[in-house]
Amino acid sequence: MSITEFASLQHYNTLALEARARALAQVCQSADLAAACAWARREGLPLVPLGQGSNIVLAQDLDALVVLMATRGVDILSDGSDEVLLRVAAGENWHELVQWALVKGLYGLENLALIPGTVGAAPVQNIGAYGVELASMIEAVHAHVIDDDTRLVLSRDDCAFGYRDSVFKHGLRDRVVITAVDLRLSRRPRLQLDYPALAQGLRSARVVSPTPIDVFNAVIRLRRSRLPDPAVQPNAGSFFLNPLVSMEQAEALAARFPALPMYAQTDGGIKLAAGWLIDFCGWKGYRNNNLGIHPQHALVLVNYGNDSGRQLLQLAETVAQSVADTFGVQLVIEPRVYGE
Ligand code: FAD
Ligand code: NAP
Repeated sequence: MSITEFASLQHYNTLALEARARALAQVCQSADLAAACAWARREGLPLVPLGQGSNIVLAQDLDALVVLMATRGVDILSDGSDEVLLRVAAGENWHELVQWALVKGLYGLENLALIPGTVGAAPVQNIGAYGVELASMIEAVHAHVIDDDTRLVLSRDDCAFGYRDSVFKHGLRDRVVITAVDLRLSRRPRLQLDYPALAQGLRSARVVSPTPIDVFNAVIRLRRSRLPDPAVQPNAGSFFLNPLVSMEQAEALAARFPALPMYAQTDGGIKLAAGWLIDFCGWKGYRNNNLGIHPQHALVLVNYGNDSGRQLLQLAETVAQSVADTFGVQLVIEPRVYGE
């Protein structure tokens, strides 16, 4: 494993923000990870694991050893007539795994097609799309403790998964590197078609009895039609989490804004669509020099040029303030911000 000091991270974050890491290493096998942890301890630096940098905002240089997780491999741990248990290395590409599983006739991941990033990062925010969350398929998460090189195996319950949330954003934040994820997939299709956009996408394609491959294709078409490709228009996907409010707050908002979409949660709370709130405040398509809000998707902030993470965060703050002034709802940034 080689370590590059004072390395640019511009190619390692999908917002293409320029920032330098005090040191950068690529981890291709578990021995590299132990060596990287030992190096960081010797230098007195924190270690920051990254996958593809699709859910981060770099607001300044990182005084850390940044470790790019590039370990590969998919092992079949058990192969039953109904279900298959897989162990997937952290550096595997998420979308390639979804494709691989479909080809093998292993189902459950199709609504999560085309989400950028690595398998190792996926449990951090419990990736989700079109009504499916990764948590529903996770059997265990394997992690390396940065401080002492011990190994942890976390069950699904240990991971404390929530809505775009997990223990890796709280108690284990900055303490572990996820090395592999065990996923339980089904040999029988278990389609989740509740999202109106997905159901409509299938109807438009004249699909009457969808298969998992039809769903996979419909999700890809929808995402390509709405979301900017970070390689062309650098972005980090949804910049804000969808806010969760109480029933009382939701009723008060519905009285003032009858068109406001609301989604009931199993815990009795109500989820609002952050994109709708931002669009209502007139931000969709906004552009100021090199920064803007995507014209098709109000939740996506785009770095059109070489602006800094700090300027991007200022725009985010202005957008969030206007939503707070209009609706009394505080938006929270979804990507991990480094160097606030
Ligand atoms: P990174 O951005 O590299 O890292 C994100 C965080 O996870 C960092 O804090 C990092 O330290 C930590 N991390 C990364 N790898 C590890 C590891 N091995 N161990 C411990 N910590 C680690 N998200 C969704 O949930 N649903 C979507 O539909 C979705 N769509 C998106 C669309 C676009 C166009 C973009 C740009 C992003 C989208 N995202 C979505 C967000 C993002 O793709 C996911 O959060 C993804 O899991 C991030 O993977 P990554 O490898 O890029 O992680
Ligand atoms: P959309 O279909 O326009 O829907 C807008 C919002 O309404 C979504 O955020 C979704 O919440 C919510 N919603 C819609 N139908 C729902 C239902 N039946 N039940 C509960 N909530 C519902 O969304 P989109 O922006 O095009 O994104 C499509 C999917 O991809 C969403 O699930 C979204 O989360 C995911 N996505 C995530 C990112 C990211 O970076 N995190 C980026 C792009 C897309 P949810 O967000 O909770 O699903």
